[in-house]
Amino acid sequence: MEDCIFCKIKVGELPSTKVYEDDDFIIIKDINPVAKIHLIAIPNEHYPSLEMQTEHGAQVLGKILHKIGELGDSLGLENGYRLVINQGEDGGQTVQHLHIHIIGGEKLKNM
Ligand code: 5GP
Ligand code: ZN
Repeated sequence: MEDCIFCKIKVGELPSTKVYEDDDFIIIKDINPVAKIHLIAIPNEHYPSLEMQTEHGAQVLGKILHKIGELGDSLGLENGYRLVINQGEDGGQTVQHLHIHIIGGEKLKNM
């Protein structure tokens, strides 16, 4: 946890551009965007991955999904977006602190 980039961002030890913050999670701009809009929703609590998730963590994930739905238009995502969780090595996860990518602002290639 001490070496976790997202834990450091949460407490302000590393800079970030926050677009939303509450008691449970933050939403920041991804430093290396894959589309015109690329945000990451990061729960405050450090869970390395979905299998480490607690019930409370799962509730926070639900809150994040609800908030993304509320914020969509105000974040420039009125035309739609894609949510992604990269899980584990095969999923391409590079930061071991569970997070949800919010990608949009342009027409995305079909998966
Ligand atoms: P993952 O590959 O684990 O699903 O996603 C990690 C994401 O974090 C990547 O999209 C990467 O660009 C982003 N990222 C890595 N380091 C930083 C950072 O210091 N600041 C921000 N804003 N994003 C970061
Ligand atoms: Zn962390």
